Amino acid sequence: MIEVHCHCGHFFSAPDSLAGGIANCPSCGKAVEVPGLRDPFWRVLVAGAVVLWVGVTAAVGVAAGPAAAVLTGLILAGVLWLISRAL
Ligand SMILES: [Zn+2]
Repeated sequence: MIEVHCHCGHFFSAPDSLAGGIANCPSCGKAVEVPGLRDPFWRVLVAGAVVLWVGVTAAVGVAAGPAAAVLTGLILAGVLWLISRAL
């Protein structure tokens, strides 16, 4: 469930399936945007994770060679994938 804050001051929970969509506030009945995976914050987070991934992989490549960089890149990609699945 996702916590939604309506403009009328009422807090309510919306099902995860409505993430990034619209839910009706049970208090005032108006449509409220549900924060979710498709909101701008999420896109910034994904972009930051990709930049971090490329940066760390490149740094390992310089410090420990291309083979270590490929290994680190694969491990980080797996970790980021697991995190994205958990969210
Ligand atoms: Zn409301």
